[in-house]
This record gives sequence, structure tokens and C-alpha cells, in this order.
Amino acid sequence: MAFVITSPCISEKAADCVDVCPVDCIELSEDQYFIDPSLCIDCGACESACPVEAIYHEDELLEEDQIFFEKAKKYFGA
Ligand code: SF4
Repeated sequence: MAFVITSPCISEKAADCVDVCPVDCIELSEDQYFIDPSLCIDCGACESACPVEAIYHEDELLEEDQIFFEKAKKYFGA
């Protein structure tokens, strides 16, 4: 299980999540941050730190945001 960063990150890229992640699994891609689903320990720290509420648990993703989970997996080669 993992958390997923969605569209509000694209214009914001605040990076608060990077500072709070205990396992350092959030990386900046070309246009937004992504969480590595194979390293995320599901702690939820990033979700509450995000100033634009871009981060959701994979089980709570809206249908239209599923693409961001797929993008994260592709980015990290999963
Ligand atoms: Fe990092 Fe925790 Fe967020 Fe996973 S849920 S990306 S481990 S801060």
C-alpha cells in the first residue's frame, strides 16, 4: 500500500512532503513529485504536510486520479 501524489502538485511542487517522509521515497520528476510505491511505509506524514491536499492513500483515490498512481509506478519502474 502507498500514498499517491495527484494533480495539485503539478502547479505547486511545495516539497513539504519530501521533508517529512521518514523513508525518503519522494522524488521530483519533470513536472511533479512522485512517491515510490515500493518504498512507502504508509505512514501518512506526507498527506497532512501537503499544503494543496494533493496526496491520497491509494485506496482513497478518485477514479480520475488513478492515472497518478500509474504514473508513479512507471516513474519508479514498478
Ligand atoms: Fe513517505 Fe509516509 Fe508519505 Fe509514504 S506515507 S510517502 S512513507 S511520508
